[in-house]
Amino acid sequence: MTFTLQLIVQENHYYPFGLELRGIEKENSPEHKFTYNGKEKQEEFGLNWLDYGARNYDAAVGRWNGIDVKAEKYYDITPYAYAGNMPTIAIDPNGEEIIITVRDKDGNAHSLKYVPGAKPPKGYRNNQFAKDMYKILNTIRKTKEGRRKINLLHKRNVRLNISQEKDLLQTSRYFPIGKADDDGAFLPGSISVNTLLGMDYGDDNKISPATGVAHEIDHAWKTAKLYTDFVESGSDPDSKEGKAWFSFVNGKDGDEEQRAVDNLERTVAEYLGDYVGRDYKKDKPTIYVVKDVIGGKGGRQRDDEKYNNLPKKIRELIEKYNNSVLFKDK
Ligand SMILES: [Zn+2]
Repeated sequence: MTFTLQLIVQENHYYPFGLELRGIEKENSPEHKFTYNGKEKQEEFGLNWLDYGARNYDAAVGRWNGIDVKAEKYYDITPYAYAGNMPTIAIDPNGEEIIITVRDKDGNAHSLKYVPGAKPPKGYRNNQFAKDMYKILNTIRKTKEGRRKINLLHKRNVRLNISQEKDLLQTSRYFPIGKADDDGAFLPGSISVNTLLGMDYGDDNKISPATGVAHEIDHAWKTAKLYTDFVESGSDPDSKEGKAWFSFVNGKDGDEEQRAVDNLERTVAEYLGDYVGRDYKKDKPTIYVVKDVIGGKGGRQRDDEKYNNLPKKIRELIEKYNNSVLFKDK
């Protein structure tokens, strides 16, 4: 029995750039220009978003220090092994975690355990990403569906990692890499978030970072739900739960992308006053710098001052992206 969990969801969630970004990235990505000046840049802009540090998003899977070591470790766990090694899900060693990886001024990664409804832990209350993510998750939890889905990711033997998006022009993304870690907790993938950017679909139809995160949370929830149902029901591939899980893994579960749009994204968008009911295949967003990570009057407003304070190079990238989207449609 082998399968590749990475194939669960193939879309690039909120990945507005495709090929274009790859070209741009070569020239301007943090790896080349910004990483080595990362600390300075971060202080200078006060935006927290150049401070990627990590070479790739997998590094965010780690905890305090030793991040790359951890990430490497996960690669070694084959899908077969994780199915075989999964302990009884009811025995929860260190699960119950949504981990938010933040970076300090020196670029070191710190893993914060998200506590629903709480503020960031002491020492991190001035960390912009920590503040933004706590605010976003706490806001999503104010909806019934959001609370239910976050609770599953938080309470069952599941560990979700959330980190800062490393691409300058990305909003939020979900990386479906389901695996078990060494504690036996199931990792339903990870989410990366750029708390600075929202998506604009024209006619004042905007999506704030919070609604974007709600969308990604739904993907992670679905993955964790199907997998934990499968394991808790006895891990029988021929059971109803087994069939549902494997059909999802093999990408035969219909349109997961539109499902996420129609579920938690919609719920949170309605709650916040963001754009409801977008067609992800047809609607093409431009991006904008938000006033606030939460939607409604705050999040749907552009912050021109913040935008103008960005390095010229980044403003140019945003312009270039937005123009290419507009032209594409014509
Ligand atoms: Zn998606």
